[in-house]
Amino acid sequence: MKVKEKYKGYIWYNGEFKPWQECNIHVFTNSLHYSSSAFEGIRSYNGRVFKLEEHIDRFLYSTSILGIECIYTHKQLCDATLELIKKNNLQNSYIRPLIWHGDKELTIKFIDNDINVMIAAYDYEQSFDIKKTLNLFVTKWRKAPANSMPHQAKTAGNYVINITALSEIKGLAYDDVLFLDTQEYVSELSSSNIFFVKDGALITPIANCCLNGITRKTIIEIAARNNIQVVEKFITLDELENYDEAFATGTASEMVSIKSISLDKEGVDKVTFLENNVTKKIAELYSALVGAIKV
Ligand code: PMP
Repeated sequence: MKVKEKYKGYIWYNGEFKPWQECNIHVFTNSLHYSSSAFEGIRSYNGRVFKLEEHIDRFLYSTSILGIECIYTHKQLCDATLELIKKNNLQNSYIRPLIWHGDKELTIKFIDNDINVMIAAYDYEQSFDIKKTLNLFVTKWRKAPANSMPHQAKTAGNYVINITALSEIKGLAYDDVLFLDTQEYVSELSSSNIFFVKDGALITPIANCCLNGITRKTIIEIAARNNIQVVEKFITLDELENYDEAFATGTASEMVSIKSISLDKEGVDKVTFLENNVTKKIAELYSALVGAIKV
């Protein structure tokens, strides 16, 4: 079923609540051609929006990277989000703000009088399924250095390389790709960060060539409060076999165990992670923090 038909309720669209089915755009929408858009992914758990202010901070940072001055303030966007989930009567939801250039002109040059903002939200069940595991494939594509890609922004353009890499595993038995950066250090997955576990401590890539995710930062805070050591370092593929566990983090996916990381498509050259005790403990703490009911 199409997303348009799947959900009901309202979308906050340029300052007004419009019925979900009526929110359409033209084929000459500038951002559709040139990726001149930015977005966020936010969750509410049992009616409470998790880290709303941080997500809207990042949203405004992403718009500034594109040179777009958002026509709504931080407070207006936070208030609109809270009103939206109330109006749509949502408890556990996924919230998607988006800013884009409309159809006034087809040019990659800056257009400052054609900015659109919407916030949509729909039912999204919490999962925290610790039995779920991911099999990853190390893509041949590399994450660009920080001076070639604004890693801390969620601009649509940043996702082109992620979509390209995912096309490599189409039809294969992999759940996601793992990126390295141009120095061959471990970076991130297509839409989540990565952590490893060794002797009870967490090891994660320095967030210079990946998004410093809000979930990543939350996990680091949780670890600090629970006397779990966290090491942020450059990680090579060679050291993966020393690690006991691995997991991915992200707002939408929450925390998911990683079972294997393969270097070739046939899965011959691969590292397998057999344990998930520390992952499970941290998932429980994260689940409690966001206000989810179950793990
Ligand atoms: N990396 C990428 C490329 C992502 O798209 C996401 C999802 N936003 C993440 C990491 C995780 O970020 P967050 O925890 O803020 O959702």
